[in-house]
Amino acid sequence: MNIESLLIHGGIDGDKQTGAVSVPIYQTSTYRQNGLGENNGYEYSRTGNPTREALEKLISDIEAGYSGLAFASGMAAITAVLTLFKSGDKIILSDNVYGGTYRVLAKVFKNFNLNFELVDTSNIKNVEDSITDDVKAIYIETPTNPLMTITDIKKISQIAKKNKLLTIVDNTFMTPYLQKPIELGADIVIHSATKYLGGHSDLVAGLVVVNNEDLSKRLHFIQNSTGGILNPFDSWLLIRGIKTLSVRMDRHEENAQYIAKFLNENPLVEKVYYPGLESHIGHDIQKKQAKGYGAIISFVLKDTININDFFKKLKLITFGESLGGVESLMCHPASMTHAAIPYEIRQKVGIVDNLARLSVGIENKEDLIEDLTSAIKLL
Ligand SMILES: *Cc1c(COP(=O)(O)O)cnc(C)c1O
Repeated sequence: MNIESLLIHGGIDGDKQTGAVSVPIYQTSTYRQNGLGENNGYEYSRTGNPTREALEKLISDIEAGYSGLAFASGMAAITAVLTLFKSGDKIILSDNVYGGTYRVLAKVFKNFNLNFELVDTSNIKNVEDSITDDVKAIYIETPTNPLMTITDIKKISQIAKKNKLLTIVDNTFMTPYLQKPIELGADIVIHSATKYLGGHSDLVAGLVVVNNEDLSKRLHFIQNSTGGILNPFDSWLLIRGIKTLSVRMDRHEENAQYIAKFLNENPLVEKVYYPGLESHIGHDIQKKQAKGYGAIISFVLKDTININDFFKKLKLITFGESLGGVESLMCHPASMTHAAIPYEIRQKVGIVDNLARLSVGIENKEDLIEDLTSAIKLL
């Protein structure tokens, strides 16, 4: 099946018993057992729930993995994956990962002596040079948030395999519609399903897909032991969102290409970060490893402009956290998504104070340009 069909019919398609085309919401905590050790495959909803299972099979199918797991948020998913490691282990981390990923490692896992090193993973030699005996995994985001740096997933996976390390990819920005890390050699794929997979800014969820039975067993054990599961209603809502992913992503990207070009030609814009621009560093790798360029654009306004004034002038584009919804969202990484990262590191990696990040929605593209144009004009 092609991905457009799989998004709709993958996992557990509908309900066998009644023929319902929509998976029922099994709003239950427990299940009747027929006798000692006799049950219908379910005992308790932390351990297993049919609605959550339908979602878990669906994400596994569309990421071409071995199995999937659903969590209460992207951070719960990331935390579960990080508990695969032990005290004394070290993880190589892309140097402008999602702020929350940095924070959980720097402020929570640090207390358990799980170490990490921030590396520019777009430079393969940097990654190779950072591998020491205690390194157990390479954790990447590509494109990164918010600077859209591209890392070659295949090359990273090859280095990881050679050194017996796990390759973990946060695929939130691309979604499996555009990029399938497991097919490129990754072991674990993570999603903040709050973003494009849900797609409507109405739920918080996280997903993990693994490529083999051993990782599947270990992560299911962690999921049941630590308990950060996704509830039945949000599992259903997420299945509903995923069904339209292909049409949404196509429109998101069409709009993003148009807006990136507009920003790139605007004299008040200092710099545009969008992998769909041929001038973007990593454009060629992106073209090779993904089916598209996504719809997140970051840009730096000239320093004569007060960026807060610009945000306040926007009418159609919502100023707020998050991304990946049908509505366009603008945010200020330095004070919002990446505030947890120390100022010096932010400057070093390029998350400057006049940087804005736009998650391009699926509104009419001329309306979006009109909003940006009038906001810039009023400055
Ligand atoms: C939002 C986000 C997360 C965290 O997910 P939540 O659902 O907010 O917990 C992780 N990674 C990336 C790339 C994100 O954008």
